[in-house]
Amino acid sequence: MSARSALLALLSLALAGSLGHDAEAAETREVNVYSYRQPYLIDPLFKKFTDETGIKVNVIYAQKGLIERMEAEGRNSPADVLLTVDVGNLMQAKDADIGQKPNSQELEKEIPAAYRDEDGIWWGLTRRARVVYASKERVKQDQITYEELADPKWRGKICIRSGQHVYNVALIASMIAAHGEAETEQWLKGVKANLARKPAGDDRMQVKGVDSGECDLAVGNTYYMGAMLKNDKEPVQKEWANSVNMLFPNTNERGTHVNLSGAVLAKNAPHRDDAVKLMEFLASDEGQEMYADVNNEYPVKEGVPWSPLVQSWGSFKSDPISLNEVAALRKKASELVDKVGFDDGPSS
Ligand code: FE
Repeated sequence: MSARSALLALLSLALAGSLGHDAEAAETREVNVYSYRQPYLIDPLFKKFTDETGIKVNVIYAQKGLIERMEAEGRNSPADVLLTVDVGNLMQAKDADIGQKPNSQELEKEIPAAYRDEDGIWWGLTRRARVVYASKERVKQDQITYEELADPKWRGKICIRSGQHVYNVALIASMIAAHGEAETEQWLKGVKANLARKPAGDDRMQVKGVDSGECDLAVGNTYYMGAMLKNDKEPVQKEWANSVNMLFPNTNERGTHVNLSGAVLAKNAPHRDDAVKLMEFLASDEGQEMYADVNNEYPVKEGVPWSPLVQSWGSFKSDPISLNEVAALRKKASELVDKVGFDDGPSS
């Protein structure tokens, strides 16, 4: 091949690539991921996938707006896979109609039905539990229930982030599933009355509140314990983490509320087949173990080992409710949060 024809071949390849017609060129196999998950969480995983398959993974990371962006891009969207956390965000993607069914028997086999969309649009990949962080110094009990958070004995002792945050909306939805709307409303009023302060900040800020003595109990997701313990940039977070015990609520009855991180296959995925391969990799035993480990989460699959740190928090019973049912009650949950004025804080 002359230098000129080599250059022309390269140019046409580049052009084909830019137009998204590169499927026939084996050396340009790639998958484009839009991710709400931070690069450090997923890069090691994607590197492993590329090593095993030769398929390159390009990641666009943003804290918000990715679903809206996929909607706006429509048929021209370069996105193949969306990665996000919480069933609320996964449902937002489904409702925005930016997903499609992967039609993968492997995904159906690997991911339990409770942790994937009943219509096949979103797929849970990791689990996190919503637990109570209790002061080591001031809370002597080693068990708790969500119901008990409304007990007047905790008056002025509870810290929690906004009731409208997706994590809390799902928790409240699971309470509605267990007790109905009316009882959950009373419960929410009780929890609100027990708050130490107006809901604000993220889950970690609530644990900080326990460390500083502002509250005795904080509600938060399990992986933040790992995130605080491993935080070398801000070592004070290790002190926050060491000031609390992690209590898995309701573990002697229906179980602790769990939520998901997950994936959606983009409706207009230009690299559909390879995108499904990536999702299957994330659902495989190897992918599950790695993915859960990087963010101190739990695999969605039974039998995949938990990381040593996550194991050290102990085993627990998770509420077996389908996340589809939780998702369906989110709207009611959010309405209750407003109705009781949860975010106005304890004294209103
Ligand atoms: Fe989080």
